[in-house]
Amino acid sequence: MTRSFAPLLPFLSFLPLWLSPPDVHRIHQRMLTLDTHADAPIMLQKSGFDVGARHDTKRDGSQIDFPRMKDGGMDAMFFAVYTSQGPRTATGHAEAKRNALNQFDLIQRSLKKYPTVAELATTPADAYRIEKAGKRAVFIGMENGYPVGEDLSLVQTYFDLGCRYITLSHFANNAICDSSTDPDGPLHNGLSAFGRQVVQEMNRLGIMVDISHNSDKTFYDVLALSKAPVIASHSNARALCDFPRNMTDDMIRAIGKNGGVVQVNFVSDYLRQPSEAHRAAKTKIRMARVGKVTTPDMEARIMAQSDSVSTAYASERASLSDIVNHIDHIVKLTSIDHVGIGSDFDGGGGVNGLEDVSQIENLTGELLRRGYSEKDITKIWGGNLLRVLSQAKGK
Ligand SMILES: [Zn+2]
Repeated sequence: MTRSFAPLLPFLSFLPLWLSPPDVHRIHQRMLTLDTHADAPIMLQKSGFDVGARHDTKRDGSQIDFPRMKDGGMDAMFFAVYTSQGPRTATGHAEAKRNALNQFDLIQRSLKKYPTVAELATTPADAYRIEKAGKRAVFIGMENGYPVGEDLSLVQTYFDLGCRYITLSHFANNAICDSSTDPDGPLHNGLSAFGRQVVQEMNRLGIMVDISHNSDKTFYDVLALSKAPVIASHSNARALCDFPRNMTDDMIRAIGKNGGVVQVNFVSDYLRQPSEAHRAAKTKIRMARVGKVTTPDMEARIMAQSDSVSTAYASERASLSDIVNHIDHIVKLTSIDHVGIGSDFDGGGGVNGLEDVSQIENLTGELLRRGYSEKDITKIWGGNLLRVLSQAKGK
């Protein structure tokens, strides 16, 4: 359970006898790989960061750029337009909208700068076409519906800018719904009346409804209302790691019945149960931004605190096998058709043996070692998610 792998070679020695490392590489390269949760826009907002240049995970604190996506055989990622939850006021909503529009612009500018390397994708056909051309497909998702504020017309605005999923809330409640981790508890008892309109508008346009971070009650409200299958863009199983932000077995079964997909997340403390002291330290950091308008200074302080907590509790860090334990669990509760990958790279994701986007082949190797077939892994690495995206317009 706690075996940790050094990158690539040592762990490949555990492969079934009939598979050699070159076989893993060939299999990995043959499939379209897609990740629904990349926090690359956090880095794009830092002055001087160039997503077209190669970075070093340790030195630069970056886990994603186009060269390393290519190295790792990562074909498609949803870049998340993320806003932390600030005040639920007209001013707060206006600031969140400004922040979100700026991130859409930064993504578009990065793509314009590297037209032969990467391209915006909004449909499954785009992803396959861009992959065939040997380029990186960049989808856009929105983590936290806070920038929608209380203005329904903004859902269309973000759709027109390329947004193909919205995570209804983040760490705290917003105008749309209750979050799983708001320290003040529920505000709307699930989805608000406005939130119901937002979900219906997303169904009409073809934006996937993402229930990661939402309270359990919000989840069930969304499932009862949505006319299209829903996703959890980056969520794990609560049975294996007890945390409100992870999903219960009943929720996972329900998403399977709904035709949706749970995209497994690489954040260590959502994979492997941390000690009480570790969790308390992480909770404090997680909530530091809530209800506040953040400044770059404050962000830097929070990131430094987060790094020092990670260092102090390094022995509790999850590994590749923990990721596959969550995948196994979801497959057992549903089937191979309802699980995928949402790494959270650049947003806290990363485990022993999988430190950045250039190392994702290690996960394919671990899945093969655990008995998954190439066909299964193709579904996990994006096939399932693209099916749901093709059905995002509700009937
Ligand atoms: Zn998140």
